[in-house]
Formats: sequence, structure tokens, C-alpha cells
Amino acid sequence: MPVSLSNIITSIQHCINDNIDEVTELDRAIGDGDHVINLQRGLEALAKIDDELSILDWSPALMKIGMTLMSTMGGASGSLFGTLFISMAKAAKGKDLNSSTFPDIFMAGVESVKQRGKADLGEKTMLDTLIPVVNSLQADRSNTVPFNQMLDNVASEAIKGMESTKDLIATKGRASFLGERSKGHIDAGARTSQLMICAIAEVLTQ
Ligand code: ADP
Ligand code: MG
Repeated sequence: MPVSLSNIITSIQHCINDNIDEVTELDRAIGDGDHVINLQRGLEALAKIDDELSILDWSPALMKIGMTLMSTMGGASGSLFGTLFISMAKAAKGKDLNSSTFPDIFMAGVESVKQRGKADLGEKTMLDTLIPVVNSLQADRSNTVPFNQMLDNVASEAIKGMESTKDLIATKGRASFLGERSKGHIDAGARTSQLMICAIAEVLTQ
């Protein structure tokens, strides 16, 4: 199966659909339970425009993805995932997407999420998955690590980051209203970010 944006979107949808109940429970425990529904709505909107996306260059495709997520998802995660892709689009302008350009493009996206959410590592959000992935990509590019190894490292850092949220106290988003009581639960956005990153890594490894 050749790798295309359409394959990637479909794989992400399958992976999220396989974990609906778990993610709903996570967001119910320390949020309002709607995270997976918000994300599914965004992914369905992307699947609907996959023909249109496939004929675009990387930068306009990333922009279209970001704008679509922003306008369809809702919730805190909608504006944050939207921001991630819109900033990646800006950073990707005039560039090809490959293992030497992607680390900086992804870093630019994650920096914007930090700014938009006024959040950083250790606050029990999606950033606890995204930031370790940025760091892994940057380190592996510097060390010219082979592509498949890079993808393996990305997947394992995403999992470690997601798991780290369990023992953290939330200081941003809805979960922060619970203070100490947010401890003991994995953050829903950290989990879906990890699931999506692992799904992408798996498609690219094939
Ligand atoms: P809402 O919290 O508005 O119901 P969602 O349930 O769709 O939105 O998304 C919640 C997720 O968004 C959280 O699990 C967390 O990962 C992420 N999130 C919330 N606020 C922030 C923030 N300020 N910075 C980064 N991520 C955040
Ligand atoms: Mg929610």
C-alpha cells in the first residue's frame, strides 16, 4: 500500500475508533468526556476532503488540515490541534517534507500549541506527548539516525510522554479545576496525540 495522506487519515481514524471507550473514560474522569467525539468529528471532516488534500503541496495541505480541524472539532483540543497544523503549514512553506525538514516543521507547530495553550511540559496535557516527540526528532536528525529507527523512537517517546501524565497534577485546561484530584488519570489529549503519532509512525514504517 503506497503511503498517502488518505491512508494516514484512515489509519488514524481506525486507531481512534478502536480506543473510543478508553479515551471517553479518561476525559470523563478529569474533563467533560467529549474529547474523542470532538476528535472524531475533525477526522471525519478530513476524510471527506482527502481527495482535495491529495492534490495540494505539503504547506497548503497542512493549512487546510489545520483550518478544517479548527472549524469542525470544538473544545480546547480543536483550537490546539488546529494551531499545530496551521503553524506547521507556515513553517513548511516552500519546503519538501522529509526526515531532515520535518523536525523543525513539527517543532514550530508544537511551539505554537505551547503559546496558544499557555502551557509547557509537565502540565498534564497533549504537550506531554508532543514535546518529547519534538525532542526525539531533533536529536535523531542531529545524529543522522536511520528513518525507521527515528519512527520507532518517536513512537516510544510518545508512549512514555503519554504515560507520564498519569502522575501529574493538571495545571491547564478543564482538568486543572480538580487540582490534586487530577492525579492518577492519564490525560485524554496526551493519549489521543500518542495514538495518532503511533498510527502515523506505523504507516510510514510499512
Ligand atoms: P475541552 O477540555 O474543552 O472539553 P477536549 O476535551 O476536546 O476539550 O480536549 C481536552 C484536551 O485538550 C486535554 O486532555 C488536554 O490534553 C488538552 N488541553 C486542554 N487545555 C490545554 C492547554 N492549555 N494547553 C495544551 N493542551 C490543553
Ligand atoms: Mg473535553
